[in-house]
Amino acid sequence: MAASELSRRGFLGLGAGVGLATAGARLARSPLLLPARAAPSLGGQPFTLGVASGEPLPGGVVLWTRLAPDPQATGGGMPAEPVPVRWEVARDERFGKVVAHGIARARPDAAHSVHVDVRGLDPAREYFYRFVADDTTSPVGRTRTAPASGSRDRLRFAFASCQDYEEGYYTAHQHLAEEDVDVVLWLGDYIYEGGVGTGVRQHEGPEPTDLEGYRRRYATYKSDASLQAAHAAHPWITTWDDHEVDNNYAADRSQRDDQPVDVFLARRATAYRSWWEHHPVRLPAPTGPDERIYRRLAFGDLASFHVLDTRQYRSDQPCGSPVDIGVPCAGQDAPDATLLGSAQRKWLFDGLKRSRARWDVLANQVMLTPVSFSPDPANPVLNLDQWDGYKQEQAAVTKALAAPRNGVVLTGDIHSSWVSDLVTAASDQAGTEPRTIATELVGTSITSSFPFPDVIDAAVANQPNIKYADGRNHGYVRCEITRGELRADFRYVSGIDTPDATIRTARSFVIEDGAPGAKPA
Ligand code: FE
Ligand code: CA
Repeated sequence: MAASELSRRGFLGLGAGVGLATAGARLARSPLLLPARAAPSLGGQPFTLGVASGEPLPGGVVLWTRLAPDPQATGGGMPAEPVPVRWEVARDERFGKVVAHGIARARPDAAHSVHVDVRGLDPAREYFYRFVADDTTSPVGRTRTAPASGSRDRLRFAFASCQDYEEGYYTAHQHLAEEDVDVVLWLGDYIYEGGVGTGVRQHEGPEPTDLEGYRRRYATYKSDASLQAAHAAHPWITTWDDHEVDNNYAADRSQRDDQPVDVFLARRATAYRSWWEHHPVRLPAPTGPDERIYRRLAFGDLASFHVLDTRQYRSDQPCGSPVDIGVPCAGQDAPDATLLGSAQRKWLFDGLKRSRARWDVLANQVMLTPVSFSPDPANPVLNLDQWDGYKQEQAAVTKALAAPRNGVVLTGDIHSSWVSDLVTAASDQAGTEPRTIATELVGTSITSSFPFPDVIDAAVANQPNIKYADGRNHGYVRCEITRGELRADFRYVSGIDTPDATIRTARSFVIEDGAPGAKPA
């Protein structure tokens, strides 16, 4: 339904008499009075970046929008003052049964974004939401709350990552919007920080390094109608990877370790701030270079999602190499090499030990499975930006996944699809065969490319714990969890060079309860 049509029908949905009045009269009679001072005229449709919801709780969800009548202008074309934004949640798409409403302030120091943490809803229920600002009504979003403990025996979700705007069209998101899923997990690389290139469409300007630059970059990405559709259709749980700040950065080190730490941390602060401004997250607004985003979300006792941050606290990539691909070196075995940092590692291990969920799912960024990209087993080539550059912690996390009943790792970053068994290190199983502990599912990218797909084919041929790998396709992974199994469908678009791609399920895998390791379905 078009926003203008909703406007005509009347935002409050309180009946024909109210709905047919003019906007001003409608607001004046409404029980949801805006502050007496009228909103400034925004000089354009303010909902150019869509609406979104996220972080479902049993009875709670975060609603998001950002007012930006001119998204590439400084401040999104908004006046430098707060603007009231009405929000409304209903059981039905026509807003006949409004169950929650209120007024939020869109402030210029938050890029006129709005984050509403709605509580008091029913668990495991579908809701619709919308906003109104300056007498304009937003598109309608659909969302879904999480189930209460023990009340649910099926969860459907999708996971996706890596959407370089220049490399292709977001048709995968158009199809994702039509999936029957309860929630979407985003595993990082929501924006790419590079400048203007030569892809099928172009970034708006040079590599961002300050708040206005990152805001413009988010405006470019979030102006895409397919991405807006995927947000409007499902609640998302979002984490970041490197490109939300700078390719392959490590904590306070820039991509090539070439920026002074204080300069890079100032940049990181603006990147984190703009990330928060553009996502429906239940997190405090960052006011400096730090933001704790690792967190846990439960879907009854069926599934627990452990959302990781493997960038903010990591030690630098080993082997003195600013690039990620390299040959093994002593540094990868350093006992203090870490992707998680000690606090997050303790939080994760404690959470896995204490969990009573049927399925414990890590929303992770970089590949956990050890993998050589060389066809020659005697001369391995590793991606030192992923867990292979941090071998001791890689082994410790793998071991920790033995604690919960079913451990599953979901991963992005590498722009290719993988299914693999996570096995004990040889030293943990002296004299016995390595034992499969958990399963890793790596989803391909929405658009970002994998440069050498032939290498994957050759490399995995002699790595038997890797059940599937593909570097040629783009899309997302759709999953269904029940008490008995997790099923994963690898959904690929027919192409990304034109905006009219079709979607298909290329491969499906099943993990059975209590039997780690994926089998072809
Ligand atoms: Fe990526
Ligand atoms: Ca990445």
